Amino acid sequence: MEANKTHHIILRPKKEESLRRFHPWVFSGAIAHLPQGIQEGDVVKVFSAGNEFLGVGHYQIGSISVRILTFTDEAIDVDFFIRRISSAYNMRTEIGLLRADNNTFRLIHGEGDFLPGLIVDLYGKTAVVQAHSVGMDADKEKIVAALQQVLGKENLENIYYKSEGTLPFKADIEPTNEYLLGGKNVDAVALENGLKFNIDWLRGQKTGFFVDQRENRRLLEHYAAGKTVLNMFCYTGGFSVYALRGGAQSVHSVDSSSKAVSLTDENVKLNFGDEPRHASFSEDAFKFLRESEKDTYDLIILDPPAFAKHRGAVNNALQGYKRLNLAAFEKIKSGGILFTFSCSQVISKEQFRLAVFSAAAISGRKVRILHQLAQPADHPINIYHPEGEYLKGLVLHVE
Ligand code: SAH
Repeated sequence: MEANKTHHIILRPKKEESLRRFHPWVFSGAIAHLPQGIQEGDVVKVFSAGNEFLGVGHYQIGSISVRILTFTDEAIDVDFFIRRISSAYNMRTEIGLLRADNNTFRLIHGEGDFLPGLIVDLYGKTAVVQAHSVGMDADKEKIVAALQQVLGKENLENIYYKSEGTLPFKADIEPTNEYLLGGKNVDAVALENGLKFNIDWLRGQKTGFFVDQRENRRLLEHYAAGKTVLNMFCYTGGFSVYALRGGAQSVHSVDSSSKAVSLTDENVKLNFGDEPRHASFSEDAFKFLRESEKDTYDLIILDPPAFAKHRGAVNNALQGYKRLNLAAFEKIKSGGILFTFSCSQVISKEQFRLAVFSAAAISGRKVRILHQLAQPADHPINIYHPEGEYLKGLVLHVE
C-alpha cells in the first residue's frame, strides 16, 4: 500500500441511515466489504452502497468497526484536532468552568465533543489523556501537538498519556502510561469549586479523579450543614470534602480500597488539616451498611462503580442497585436525604429509578424525589449519540 492512502469502506445497501443522522458509529454488520491491507487504527472514509461519501473515522476490529470523526471530507491531521479541541475548550471557558477557584474539568468527552475514543481531563496545568480506540492511540502525537497549540505553554505544562486498560488487548500495541510532555516537578493539586484535591493520575482509577460529580457535590454541600453524613464508595473523597465545607456535623467515608481511603484522608487534610469531624473506613459498602446502627445518618451518598459494564449484566446490576438502596433506606434517619447514583451507561434513567423505587417500596419508607441529577456540562451528550448519557442520580427525602 502506498503511504498515506486512505482506505475506503463501502456499506451495505440502506445501512447509511444512522450516519445520515450523524450517529458516529458504524457497526461491523453494516459493512459490505473491507479493503485489503486495512489495519486497525487506520483512518478510513466511509461510503454508502451508492458510493456517496458519508464520513471519515477510525477503523477498529470489533462490533463498532468505525468511529466517525467527521461527516465532512477532510484530513485527520493536527489542524483537525486543533479545531475540535479549541471548540471544546472555548465551550468550557465560555460556560465558566475555568476560574481562579476551578481549574479542573473534562476537556474532551469522546462523542460528546465529536472525538469518539478520546478522553482528556484537565487538572490545572496537567492534561490526562486516555485513548479508548486504537485509532486515537495511533493519533496521540497529533493530539499532543494540538493540545499544546490550543492551551498554550502558560496553561499546559504536562500531558500524561494513559492507555493501560482502556484499549482492547492487542499483541502489537504496547499500552503506555507515560508523560508525553513535561513530567518534572508536577503540581498535582487541582482546584474544584475552591476545594483542593491531590490527583493521582499515575496510580488512580481512570484519569485519577471523578470530575463528573462536580455539580452534584456542590448540591450536596448545600444540604450538609449540621448533618451526620455517610459517603459510600468515597474514592478520593470528593463528596466528603464538600460535606465538611458545608458544615456537616460528622462525615464517615467508606471504600473497599485502602488506597482510596488514604487518598480521601489526604484530601480532607489538604483542605482542613486535622479534622475531627471526619473518619474513614476501608470496608465493603454492603457490609458497612448492614452493620451500621439504624438512625445514625441524616445524609447518605451512594456512588458505586458501574454495576453493569455491558448489556448482559443489566439484570444483575439492577438487583445490585436495589439491594444497595434498600440497605440505605433501612438505615437512614427519618427526614434524611439520600443521594443515589448509577454511572452504568447500559442502565437507563428509567431502569435505575425503578430499581430505587423497588427498594423504597420494600423498605416501606415514605420517599420523595427532590432532584434528578445527571452528568455535568463538561461531559456533554451529542444529541445524535444518546448512548453518551451515562450518569444519573436521585436526591431523595426519606421519612
Ligand atoms: N464517589 C466517588 C467515585 C466513586 S468510584 C467520587 O466522587 O470520586 C467507585 C469507588 O467504589 C471506588 O473507589 C472503588 O474502590 C469503590 N468500591 C467498589 N466496590 C466497593 C464495595 N463493594 N464497597 C465499597 N467500595 C467499593
